[in-house]
Amino acid sequence: MSLWNLAQPQLRDLVAYETGKPIEDVARELGLHPDEIVKLASNENPLGPSPKALVAMHRAIDLAHFYPDGAGYYLREAIAKKHTLGMENVILGNGSNEIIEFLGHAFLNPEAEVIASKHAFVVYKLMASLFGAKFVEVPDPNFTHDLRAMAEAITPRTRQIFVANPNNPTGTIVSQAEIDAFMARVPEHATVIFDEAYYEYLDQPPDTLKYVREGRNVIILRTFSKIQGLASTRIGYGLAPKELVDVLQKTRQPFNANGIAQAGALAGLLDQEHQRETKRVNDEGRAYLQTEFAALGRRFVPSYANFVLVHVGDGKAVFQALLRRGLIVRPMAGYGLPEWLRISVGTMEQNRKLIAALREILAA
Ligand SMILES: *Cc1c(COP(=O)(O)O)cnc(C)c1O
Repeated sequence: MSLWNLAQPQLRDLVAYETGKPIEDVARELGLHPDEIVKLASNENPLGPSPKALVAMHRAIDLAHFYPDGAGYYLREAIAKKHTLGMENVILGNGSNEIIEFLGHAFLNPEAEVIASKHAFVVYKLMASLFGAKFVEVPDPNFTHDLRAMAEAITPRTRQIFVANPNNPTGTIVSQAEIDAFMARVPEHATVIFDEAYYEYLDQPPDTLKYVREGRNVIILRTFSKIQGLASTRIGYGLAPKELVDVLQKTRQPFNANGIAQAGALAGLLDQEHQRETKRVNDEGRAYLQTEFAALGRRFVPSYANFVLVHVGDGKAVFQALLRRGLIVRPMAGYGLPEWLRISVGTMEQNRKLIAALREILAA
């Protein structure tokens, strides 16, 4: 007897999430020191965490024998204050990805439908599949969410619609006007999930908080993994009307957000300077990468986030050639884009190293 016959049937075909290749793996394989490897594969902050977050986390380590504050009081209070919402509008996740899972526990079943854009963040599809829901993928002209077509895909069974803004892995955005026209068409029975993991990198971020304030069936997801540089600690949050937060809180394990992460996130949230500097480094690096891709005669998708999707031909071969030079980027075959790579913006030194290697590889 195979255990697969006892397991949920949808698990058989569930494809595991393909992560960025860890630095330690590459170092081991190439016999290099981890410091010699440059990772531009997971949209992490190349400057690291805020120095203030580091101090707070070091302090929190001394208290590692205590369970954390499961309610996340101080962090939720600070997040609520920053967005002029109440604490009852804030939920913490073990990364914002966990909140996507909460939404599945709360609302999905084999009768439900989930709508997302083609080439949207793959976790939406994975979670819909995990809960046996039908995943409806809407075409994305020019790698951009087509919110009009997504609204047209809504049926009485639609329970979730994901809007990743900016989207990963494409780096594209939808405008305020598009969002407003879309929201005018979404019925109450579908939760709109605005995944804003890269929100802090935008020059003119759209206002989706107004829909939370209006009590619409929406949740905004934000994370400390990206601009805050705390990816390893696993912490993110959702902003939603009280009733939606109340529902999701029931699906949550009591200590999902650990104490070290909460301390680092709280200190990082208040460190405006570190965020400003990170955005400046990103703006400069992204402009440089895009200029160089154009100079190499390569197509790329103009990005609003901290990564760029670039057309290289044989994505797997170029990925491996970069790997041999100690540069980790992200191959895109898992997204149905085998000719493309997603490259995170690093420090200028890292960006130059990447471009020099890419120029050599593409010339060969
Ligand atoms: C990175 C990312 C997240 C954040 O994931 P965490 O679980 O918070 O680390 C969420 N959504 C998108 C689109 C992302 O790219």
